[in-house]
Amino acid sequence: MAHIYDTIIIGGGPAGLSAGLYAARSRMDTLLIERAKFGGQATTTDELENYPGSIEDCTGSSLTERMRKQAEEFGVSFVKNEVADVDFSGKIKTVKCKNGETYEAKTIIIATGAYPRLGGFKNEIELRGRGVSYCATCDADFFTDLDIAVIGGGDSAITEAIYLTKFAETVTVIHRRDQLRAAKSLQEKAFKNPKIKFIWNSVVEEAKGDEILEGLVIKNRETGEVSELEVNGVFVFVGYLPISEVFKGKVKMNDRGDIVTDEEMRTDVEGVFAAGDIREKSLRQVITAAADGAIAATNAEHYIENNFAE
Ligand code: NAP
Repeated sequence: MAHIYDTIIIGGGPAGLSAGLYAARSRMDTLLIERAKFGGQATTTDELENYPGSIEDCTGSSLTERMRKQAEEFGVSFVKNEVADVDFSGKIKTVKCKNGETYEAKTIIIATGAYPRLGGFKNEIELRGRGVSYCATCDADFFTDLDIAVIGGGDSAITEAIYLTKFAETVTVIHRRDQLRAAKSLQEKAFKNPKIKFIWNSVVEEAKGDEILEGLVIKNRETGEVSELEVNGVFVFVGYLPISEVFKGKVKMNDRGDIVTDEEMRTDVEGVFAAGDIREKSLRQVITAAADGAIAATNAEHYIENNFAE
């Protein structure tokens, strides 16, 4: 007979790792499946100044690696694989992976997170990795003493623009409105930083260059004026989209593809929970992802107690 886990957690970012910690501490037989690297999007940020207690030398990677170790020490089993299909129709849920492996569990916690949205300008894909980037901690070093741009006005764009000034000569933030969406404290830091310049009310229409990025074509949305900015790199931070394709038709989602849950992280399918950035929610942070994971695992445990009594 196939092994039946108490819970399978899909996704190894802060939501999944926290769910793992809570599930394993409750002595649930727990499997966590991650397709790429543990830690999720948090690993792409250098400074986590708003995670309580992370004061010195706390990067996204170091924090999430500690979360992974902690979950492992409490007994979570980890598998590196990509989920290809799921069947949530029965009391026992099935997860099929791309390598053909199938896993079964009494409960599922979906914590697959989100991926960066594209900027949508001409030549973006062609110059990806050749000047166009979506991860400052991964690529900042390539742009030491060079001029770069950041697209976006949210927390990601401004956090990473500030980080990029440690490497680049100048960082020009190109934002489509005349006000930033980022937290006020980040805005204040950015406005004070002499290396950061702003181009307001503007969008990037094209990345110039054949083999490597040489500049950006920028259009002012108010005046219609088109100009060129010479840069060696551009970092795109225009929001994120949920990684939920494989769950379409299996659990309730909104139009964007975020999974809809109640406050207890329950989806519309009994025994299936969702946690972190994959959920429809207003505040996407490491702390809210971790909290979601804890709630999901606790409720998965309650669900098993109520539905699988021996
Ligand atoms: P976001 O908050 O959705 O902001 C996206 C930014 O990109 C907005 O300024 C938006 O402009 C702009 N934008 C969207 N589509 C665009 C397009 N096609 N062309 C040009 N600009 C476009 O996304 P985020 O900054 O990645 O943050 C995602 C979530 O993670 C948020 O909940 C955020 O709070 C959280 N986060 C938090 C931290 C932190 O606390 N340190 C760090 C990173 C992320 P408009 O403003 O005009 O809409």
